Amino acid sequence: MSEPNSPYLRDALETIPAYKPGRTVVSPGGRSVKLSSNESPYGPLPSVREAVAAAAADLNRYPDAASAELTAALAHRFGVDEERIALGAGSVGLLQQILAATADPGAEIVYAWRSFEAYPLLVELSGAAPVTVPLRGEAHDLDAMAEAVTDRTRVVFVCNPNNPTGTAVRESELAAFLDRVPEHVLVVLDEAYREYVRDPQVPDGVASFGDRPNVAVLRTFSKAYGLAALRAGFMIAPPRIATAVRKTLVPFAVNHVAQAAAVASLAAEKELLERVDATVKERERVRDALLADGWEVPTTEANFVWLRLGEHTGDFAAAAAAEGVAVRAFPGEGARVSIGAAEDNDAFLDVAREFPHRNR
Ligand code: PMP
Repeated sequence: MSEPNSPYLRDALETIPAYKPGRTVVSPGGRSVKLSSNESPYGPLPSVREAVAAAAADLNRYPDAASAELTAALAHRFGVDEERIALGAGSVGLLQQILAATADPGAEIVYAWRSFEAYPLLVELSGAAPVTVPLRGEAHDLDAMAEAVTDRTRVVFVCNPNNPTGTAVRESELAAFLDRVPEHVLVVLDEAYREYVRDPQVPDGVASFGDRPNVAVLRTFSKAYGLAALRAGFMIAPPRIATAVRKTLVPFAVNHVAQAAAVASLAAEKELLERVDATVKERERVRDALLADGWEVPTTEANFVWLRLGEHTGDFAAAAAAEGVAVRAFPGEGARVSIGAAEDNDAFLDVAREFPHRNR
């Protein structure tokens, strides 16, 4: 049944693509390996489980709207004042909050493309105009991004490392870029994958640029800390920006269980970061195996690898699905494959080895 357009829905919704979450597939033999959402392969540590169970005793009460304990723990962890921290329902929630705080009609939001799928969706939803700057090869073209800034630009997103290519911009390049961007523009460094970075030349945005008046750094508990299901992200920014972004949080959106799990995760950070080390080792093993097998794979600083497959992308995703391996396909461009547990990565490597088309 075709419905007439509803007069009260915004025209923009006709064209805004729905966010497509990473899928799960099951092979005919019953195997299901999910490498499509850049999740941690590890379940919660016992201490985090206990914190979640304890928090579950209070589900009849609203959460602390200010996330005071978590804010204090983050301020301590990062050595910054609490007024510089804003919490969100995942860092994707914070992206939306940032846009709510900055994007008047007519505002332009600049970001590289291809990059994180949620950017175009959230920018279009905000009513602002997306201005996309093509990647150079697989990496950010910061010169072209600086040139794309106009009087109407409000925000530039720099995804570092970039999802889905895994490439990362270096400190000197980013410093030169930030020097060029006028102060009426907020630069958001989206560092969802920061904990997986091993190249010492790739900056920690908080440590290197956190003091700049127009820089906000986004981090998340979803990846390295393994709490994707609970939705907790944070921003570290100058107080003026953090105050504005806190105002745009849907009241109580950072739930009580998420706050408790995030606090417990910070307390268990050493163990969690050891798991990240193991994932990084796996990443290098996977990339080396692919290279040895004749694939071209950009250097990745995140918990995934990128295979530029062009017209073969759909076939690759189908071949993987037939083996029960879910990857994230970007039709016509390539596939992003998360680094999981060793046996899951082996299942992906088997698919890649058998695939007839290399991307060299
Ligand atoms: N930024 C980037 C670059 C991401 O890849 C993701 C998740 N895929 C997010 C932000 C959002 O993560 P979350 O909302 O779970 O914090």
